[in-house]
Amino acid sequence: MAKLYFYYASMNAGKSSTLLQTAFNYGERGMKVSLWTAALDDRPGFGAISSRIGLASDAHRYEADTDIEARVLEEHKETELACVLVDEAQFLTKEQVWGLARLADEAGIPVLCYGLRTDFQGELFPGSAALLGIADALVEMKAVCDCGRKATMNLRVDANGKAVSEGAQTEIGGNDRYVAMCRRHFSEALEG
Ligand SMILES: [Zn+2]
Repeated sequence: MAKLYFYYASMNAGKSSTLLQTAFNYGERGMKVSLWTAALDDRPGFGAISSRIGLASDAHRYEADTDIEARVLEEHKETELACVLVDEAQFLTKEQVWGLARLADEAGIPVLCYGLRTDFQGELFPGSAALLGIADALVEMKAVCDCGRKATMNLRVDANGKAVSEGAQTEIGGNDRYVAMCRRHFSEALEG
């Protein structure tokens, strides 16, 4: 039976690298996969999935109103898909997550989602909440805090590296504005 997977972690745990490695492995065997990422900004190269260790690939881009399920089914009709890989899955809507679940349940296509568990305030993202709720398999990927403990939190910092506690859940173009930390050091940084 095809499953819906959620690979979750803080920033910098290697989610995109793992996703792209998985896509590569399928490609090597001549199998087709459908790659998706969130359409969040209009920087050059936006929509491509890239990883800190240099891997990159173009991908379909989803917005809140994109019917990923329908688009994947269309693709699947043309060429059989081995799986669907979704990066930045924290930005999926609940409806999109249910659509991905149906791809696994009804079309028999495995769906692997990769995303952040929580935002800079320690709150679940909508996509993460839905995936934690209904995915068949939850797989934690591990990033490391400077102290050596597992980094589960994402501290947002300003241009001067100072911890930020208020603001919108998503700020565009700011991957360098986050530091993955263990919970203790996250709390200490916010108490500053
Ligand atoms: Zn720490």
